[in-house]
Amino acid sequence: MERVYLGLGSNLSEPLGQLRAALAALAALPHSQLAAVSSFYSSDPMGPADQPHYINAVAALDTALEPLDLLDALQTIEQQQGRTRHAERWGPRTLDLDILLFGERLLNEPRLQVPHYDLQARPFVLYPLAQIAPGLHLADGRKLDDLLQTCPFQGLELL
Ligand code: ATP
Ligand code: MG
Ligand code: MG
Repeated sequence: MERVYLGLGSNLSEPLGQLRAALAALAALPHSQLAAVSSFYSSDPMGPADQPHYINAVAALDTALEPLDLLDALQTIEQQQGRTRHAERWGPRTLDLDILLFGERLLNEPRLQVPHYDLQARPFVLYPLAQIAPGLHLADGRKLDDLLQTCPFQGLELL
């Protein structure tokens, strides 16, 4: 089993319910165990500002799935919860499930970059992550505490 951290986000169709349904789907994944879930946070949207606020959380999943198999499973859950993909980047969505960290792995594949390429810039990722993984060291040598120092708790509200 490897410890994976997942970022969850939703800003359409009852976001709280979307996150709860996603957590239930994660808990039901084969060869996997949902190990921890952060609090839920409300956050300002990235990218286009004319969209609803997001609800975000981070979950820890212990899994024996390979990274691309987990990505497939996450995209299936997104689709089951009505995710539609549009041309506009970072537009509103019912559910986004991103792999933030995957054990000690460093992945740079066309479909999957791990650690997530932008986690250091996202308070709605770093603060919930710190809640369930305080003092974490990333596989690439960075320390979560250092990333938090340069990413203010801004546009974020603990629910
Ligand atoms: P962002 O990646 O900036 O958070 P997004 O989550 O809205 O944006 P998506 O439309 O959900 O982007 O995903 C676009 C593609 O990103 C996916 O098809 C997937 O192959 C790829 N991808 C690369 N690395 C990851 C990762 N660590 N977790 C999830 N998807 C990833
Ligand atoms: Mg995302
Ligand atoms: Mg995504």
